[in-house]
Amino acid sequence: MANVNKAIKISQKHLLGIQDLSISDVNIILSEAKQFIGLNKSKNKKLDILRGKTQINLFFEPSTRTLSSFELAGKRLGADVMSMNLNNSAIKKGETLIDTAMTLNAMHPDIIVVRHQDSGASNLLSQKVNCSVLNAGDGRREHPTQALLDALTIIDRKKKIEGLKIAICGDIVHSRVARSNIYLLNMLGAEVNIIGPSNLMPKDIDKLGVKTFSDMKKGIKDCDIVMMLRLQNERMTSSFLSSNREYYEYYGLTPDKLEFAKEDALIMHPGPMNRGIEIDTKLADDINKSVIKEQVELGVAVRMACLKIFCE
Ligand code: ASP
Repeated sequence: MANVNKAIKISQKHLLGIQDLSISDVNIILSEAKQFIGLNKSKNKKLDILRGKTQINLFFEPSTRTLSSFELAGKRLGADVMSMNLNNSAIKKGETLIDTAMTLNAMHPDIIVVRHQDSGASNLLSQKVNCSVLNAGDGRREHPTQALLDALTIIDRKKKIEGLKIAICGDIVHSRVARSNIYLLNMLGAEVNIIGPSNLMPKDIDKLGVKTFSDMKKGIKDCDIVMMLRLQNERMTSSFLSSNREYYEYYGLTPDKLEFAKEDALIMHPGPMNRGIEIDTKLADDINKSVIKEQVELGVAVRMACLKIFCE
């Protein structure tokens, strides 16, 4: 069995957002995660460090990568894992979360992983239960484990984050991935360019310590990383786009736009991707440039690290 150290404690009981973490917390999580990269490629992936612990995954929104990787992560660490997909539940919003939290709390879980469509839901839940809560996507507010796995992927490929120029492009206003990445990449010393049409930019973007661009070629210029985002149609209350074709023309990542980035620039996307709208399908699959699959792979390691640290 692989030799894995005991988790070092960090300053927080819950993982609700990157904004709550210190640099030292982030470094602890990332170095824990590195230990699991090799294990996840080996034949025997099972550890028993969370044996006897109960992990509940409470997902009120659809998820493929995040839910499956949290489930696998918990199982690989030996926890008893129960996944509840409440996406289709008919119970009213608000009531659902608190009632469900109280019910689950009575069953004495050791950790709850929650995804919810309302910003602030994971904070609310953390006040109602006794165990640690991990945010797996909180409305449009934060998605901390996504930013941590993105950081691990960048470090794995570029060996550092400090001094890199990173472009985040697309539907910024609705994206919890963008927010968590902006906080984390700034904290780790990257220069962050935000690119998107003005109606998909948050009003407070200037306060976030980034440069903003509406021209994708200018925003991508000399970047080391180009991170594309999904158009969050489910969060759009009115029509934000004239057409997908026009969006692709101005904000889709295509080989001609990528030319403006550094020659060795890497392409990222948190998934799920809308091919041919946010990104050219060949670029998404280009093994020399795209690290989208590696993001998924390292997501399991990051979630193992988070479960270990917050549950042990
Ligand atoms: N999977 C990410 C999230 O849950 C990105 C996305 O859905 O676009 O926020």
